[in-house]
Amino acid sequence: MITRFSCGALRASDAGAAVELNGWVNRRRDHGGLIFVDLRDRDGVTQIVFDPTHVSFKDAEHLRNEDVLRITGTVRKRPAGTENSTLATGEIEVGIDSLEILNRSQVPPFQINVDADVDVDLRLEYRYLDLRRPRMQNNIILRHKIVKTMRDFFDERGFVEIETPMLIKSTPEGARDYLVPSRLYPGEFYALPQSPQLLKQICMIAGFGKYMQIARCMRDEDQRADRQPEFTQLDVEMSFTNQEDVIETMESCIRRVWKNVLGVDLAPFPRLTYDDAMNKYGIDKPDLRFGLELAQVNDIFAGTDFVVFKSVIDTEGAIVALRYPGGASLSRRDFDALTEEAKTAGARGMVWVALGADGVKSSAQKFINDDHVAKLRSATQSETGDAILLFADARAHALAVAGKMRNAVGERCGLRDPKQFSFCWVLDFPYLEVDDETGKAYPAHHPFTSPGEGQWQYLHTDPLKMRAQHYDMVLNGYELGSGSIRIHKPEEQRAIFEMLGMTPQQIQDQFGFFVKALEYGAPPHGGMALGIDRIVMLAAGENHLRDVIAFPKNQSARDVMMDAPSAVPEQLLRDLYLKSTAPPPPDQAAGR
Ligand code: ASP
Repeated sequence: MITRFSCGALRASDAGAAVELNGWVNRRRDHGGLIFVDLRDRDGVTQIVFDPTHVSFKDAEHLRNEDVLRITGTVRKRPAGTENSTLATGEIEVGIDSLEILNRSQVPPFQINVDADVDVDLRLEYRYLDLRRPRMQNNIILRHKIVKTMRDFFDERGFVEIETPMLIKSTPEGARDYLVPSRLYPGEFYALPQSPQLLKQICMIAGFGKYMQIARCMRDEDQRADRQPEFTQLDVEMSFTNQEDVIETMESCIRRVWKNVLGVDLAPFPRLTYDDAMNKYGIDKPDLRFGLELAQVNDIFAGTDFVVFKSVIDTEGAIVALRYPGGASLSRRDFDALTEEAKTAGARGMVWVALGADGVKSSAQKFINDDHVAKLRSATQSETGDAILLFADARAHALAVAGKMRNAVGERCGLRDPKQFSFCWVLDFPYLEVDDETGKAYPAHHPFTSPGEGQWQYLHTDPLKMRAQHYDMVLNGYELGSGSIRIHKPEEQRAIFEMLGMTPQQIQDQFGFFVKALEYGAPPHGGMALGIDRIVMLAAGENHLRDVIAFPKNQSARDVMMDAPSAVPEQLLRDLYLKSTAPPPPDQAAGR
């Protein structure tokens, strides 16, 4: 009897078995009169041996990489000394009985059997070949395992997975909507969901109590390295809950994922307030794989003659100090380069102090005395051999720049080990953030977030002071996701919309359906969403989201395999009552 196996399954104990294998030619070698074919499927690689006396030897001579085969043969132990300990099947080979060539392959545009650097757009154009590579197969399978663990976890806790629609009314999450024109309602549009936020809240009003969904979200934003126009969230909502409850649920889920899928026991996630995060790390998503806490050192320079520091102290800005471990060995040129990096990060300038064994040097030598040095050392916990970098500016700005440089220093000093997982929670966010460019205040999370206890008093007097019941989960400097306790009283929801400058008519047009739903016995509720693409990327030790998404868009938001977006026939536009006013594409614009 012939049994079918995958290409990664056979072991020495199978010797003697008659087997069938199906897969792709990973490599063919002609060797000492024999032909060896490594046959590959997603499970692994098995060596097939063709003897010159066998009828299929002639066909085997013409096999090329990526041809698709079905073979039958007999498993045997490899001759002593020819085993391959790097392969799970490395102790055996299969002697050919029959060969069927199921399909031929063109010569692939890049090699599949080596993990070489290949141009990203070429990879994405031939994504089916790219995905055949073991690294990509492993990433996609890891993603499946992570998502399955999440689903199982929430199922055990009594959550119901509810699919929310893709064609909805626009519910803002701070980005631009993708719109879908309606053929049946000329001039009207659906929006693709930026998240199922209002629908999951409505599931709470509908009495489901515990909702989860592996939810697809679409946001029409300018692309950045770690963004995709469509992405997947683990979306969760719970009734009769509180912040602690949601945090416990989400943290337990992630802990289960790391344990079951990666075999890693995570320690309880430390918690920081937003203010702590900003003061110590200059950022609301701190990378806690390393210390290097920032120090605000205005006091140390009280009475200084150094005008840069003096003007900042006089205007209640901040001088922020950052330790650079081992930085005393940097040359002046290195410090110049670092200063340029700081300027790119938004700094007006940077002062450095190098604590060399042979004395202290500084870019502001004249203004830095022994007393300053001693106090700076202790404020930043620096040692001889380190350097201290100083940034002076308006407080928030100086902290933000120092926060970016802290990450840069961590990177240079090798403190950002991708195999280390440092999670944390950031809590007590301000309700509002002010946009640097427009000066307009907008919710740090979204307008359905409830202010914290005792915070409503600031609504009309000092809204910027108001804190939200909003929490973020952070891993290694990446925001994995946000959540909040929601407003569940219609009058409170209206008050927030009004604070954001919406007129009653605008509230009615955009959110009338939602406020109406709140009027019919909405329970207190809250939830969270975690970015699955980011979670898988970090769990896989990858640097790009595209390496954990089967069919991602490229940096210019194009699908280069299908060539989308693309023009459509005039008739289709007419059916939709649309007319394009776009100029003709400038010779297949960049990114194609
Ligand atoms: N809908 C939010 C988001 O996509 C998450 C949440 O508040 O649950 O970021």
